Amino acid sequence: MFKKKTIQNIDLQGKRVLARVDFNVPIEDGVVSDDTRIQAALPTIEYILSQKASLILISHLGRPKGERNPQLSLRPVADHLAGILEAPLHFAEDCLGPQAEEAASRLPSGEVLVLENTRFHAGEKKNDPQMARQLASLADLFVNDAFGTAHRAHASNVGVADYLPAVAGFLMEREIRYLGEMIAEPESPFVAILGGSKVSGKIQAIHNLLPKADHILIGGGMANTFFAAQGYRMADSLVEEDSIPVAKELLEKAGSQLHLPLDYVIADAFDPDAGRKVIPVGDVPAGWRVLDIGPKTVAAYGTTLASAKTVTWNGPMGVFEFPAFAKGTFNLAKAVAKSEAVSIIGGGDSAAAAKQSGMAEQFTHISTGGGASLQMLEGATLPGLDAIDNDELT
Ligand code: AMP
Repeated sequence: MFKKKTIQNIDLQGKRVLARVDFNVPIEDGVVSDDTRIQAALPTIEYILSQKASLILISHLGRPKGERNPQLSLRPVADHLAGILEAPLHFAEDCLGPQAEEAASRLPSGEVLVLENTRFHAGEKKNDPQMARQLASLADLFVNDAFGTAHRAHASNVGVADYLPAVAGFLMEREIRYLGEMIAEPESPFVAILGGSKVSGKIQAIHNLLPKADHILIGGGMANTFFAAQGYRMADSLVEEDSIPVAKELLEKAGSQLHLPLDYVIADAFDPDAGRKVIPVGDVPAGWRVLDIGPKTVAAYGTTLASAKTVTWNGPMGVFEFPAFAKGTFNLAKAVAKSEAVSIIGGGDSAAAAKQSGMAEQFTHISTGGGASLQMLEGATLPGLDAIDNDELT
């Protein structure tokens, strides 16, 4: 049950609305190259405008480290959005200060003002109350639709909510409903697929999933540390030595619930054109490294997935950025897509892989937030969600 106030619980008419969205999108040569996150914010943007409110949009983009950086300007995003919306759209070159204040105060209802990257100010990541108060002073109420940032407590998503009525947008609500319900009441068999480079980032998620999931399928670089824990020589593979003890503990605790690859694709260099071989799990020859799961693993994981009723997936099965080592990830995406399970894909790399596999339409939900969805798998609360006002009626 979603226990937070949403934009549908509040009168927006004639109001000045400050909406935190996640416009952290890839930009190439000054043009947005993937607008998935912009599209995902449109229902909220269009609803606010339809209610005859004026709309001020704020977001971060990349990691400018608290300084103005023209490479990380939100202007290309504003231009892209202007091409989608019918409403007039304005841009202010700073999210704080006189230009933003004047543009916000003069903004007519039904029009949009996009403010420059919030992370051009050091106060953003420090959740500085003064920055939060200044942002809040631009509007009458705050809408948080930035699920992708919800695992962070920053001025533009958490601090600002101290100074304005704060409600959730449609994307935030949708993400929390899918991910929250899946974690609270997954229909069994519940299969969790975990991959990506490092086991250290997924230990908490494994601990939280063990009592809930029927099977946890491991792939990607993180599997290497489990194999090292079993005593295999992994040669030049990515292994986290520090995590070997915890990997051992998890193997003992989880038993047959935790599935490891049966074979792997190894490479003689970390290179898209490296020489490659498929070998059964065992010692990796000197000078080689594991870069993907092998076909036997895909088949075995596919069998487990075929009878699943709920599937969650976070992290690729190999270095899918190299086409020669993407097969494990893409074929597993196809196996998930084929199953009749409710399938929820974590954001980031897994979402990109799910789309590249051509199966995007077959999944129940592809999250827009990698870190935030992982934090939900860990069973941790999201500061961005906590800061939204509770709905007293639920
Ligand atoms: P993460 O950021 O931890 O979710 O990991 C995603 C990254 O893991 C992707 O960029 C993959 O290229 C990388 N990855 C997956 N499998 C491996 C592997 N076997 N060796 C090295 N990197 C890997």
